[in-house]
Amino acid sequence: MDGQTQLVGVMGWPIAHSLSPAMHNAAFDALGLNWHYVPLPVHPSQVGAAIEGLKALGFRGSNVTLPHKEAVIPHLDDVPSHVARFGAVNTLILHRDEDGGCTITGENTDVQGFVHALRQGGFDPQGRRVLVAGAGGAARGVVYGLCGAQATEITVLNRTVARAETLITDLAAVASRTTLHSGALTQETLERCANEVDLLINATTRGMWPHVDASIWHDDCPFPLHLTVCDLVYRPLQTKLLRQARTAGLLTIDGLGMLIGQGALSFEMWTGRWPPEDAMRAACEAVLRADDANGREAHR
Ligand code: NAP
Repeated sequence: MDGQTQLVGVMGWPIAHSLSPAMHNAAFDALGLNWHYVPLPVHPSQVGAAIEGLKALGFRGSNVTLPHKEAVIPHLDDVPSHVARFGAVNTLILHRDEDGGCTITGENTDVQGFVHALRQGGFDPQGRRVLVAGAGGAARGVVYGLCGAQATEITVLNRTVARAETLITDLAAVASRTTLHSGALTQETLERCANEVDLLINATTRGMWPHVDASIWHDDCPFPLHLTVCDLVYRPLQTKLLRQARTAGLLTIDGLGMLIGQGALSFEMWTGRWPPEDAMRAACEAVLRADDANGREAHR
């Protein structure tokens, strides 16, 4: 870094285990850009002050992650209507004028990043039927993105069925070309619905470290052979669900694709350049491998 280094970062709480600094800095290095990406630990009581801090300190932009994606919105100067409708911001772009003035636009790249990851992974959701397991924040972005990409039918199954119903009701307005269904997530409903769709997405936390031997899919149940399986969990990268699906010969898409997709879109908004996604993936995989090694040691 030197006096001309352009700064971007990621605001979250906690933020220490974020993959984004390694991912973005690898892309800056690969393109030879004098930019640097830093973790910004922002307590929930300090969101407004942190936004003013970005302006005062000359930042060019920032990502926003949990738990601040909604809380930043009242502090921004411009939030496009499609982002306001979704209700969550993950990217800030700072615009500066020559008199020292600064305004901030809030964007969301999670939704498009997910659709980008599906297409990169070999699955175009247009005209396809999708089963989403889970109804939390990630599932909401996924369903929003799939509606925009014109999936014909989406079924959301969740352990707490009321949450799946709320998600469907909230997103009905953006689903003009998509039929939405909701239901309880059980082995029976999962297996029955999986037979009727083209893509299964795990948007639950099941299978996430340290519960690496857990999967939403039962070992003794055969997969429908036409199914593509996507897991949003990326710690570990090779989840049990993905291993099961790959053993059955299915196309699989891992959780890093979505992380890289949203990061690449944010990167382009800040720099005007499309980043090398392979460099971003290699950097993330290196951090995950190091974490795995540390986790195993800590476990012993
Ligand atoms: P969240 O809002 O906390 O939602 C968690 C979801 O998991 C809920 O639907 C919850 O069901 C379900 N769940 C939890 N434990 C379960 C269990 N034992 N069996 C079945 N369902 C269970 O979390 P989120 O932000 O949506 O994140 C979900 C997953 O997506 C996490 O693993 C996260 O790391 C991943 N993610 C990945 C990306 C990416 O870029 N790849 C981005 C965002 C999130 P209930 O409602 O019944 O509690």
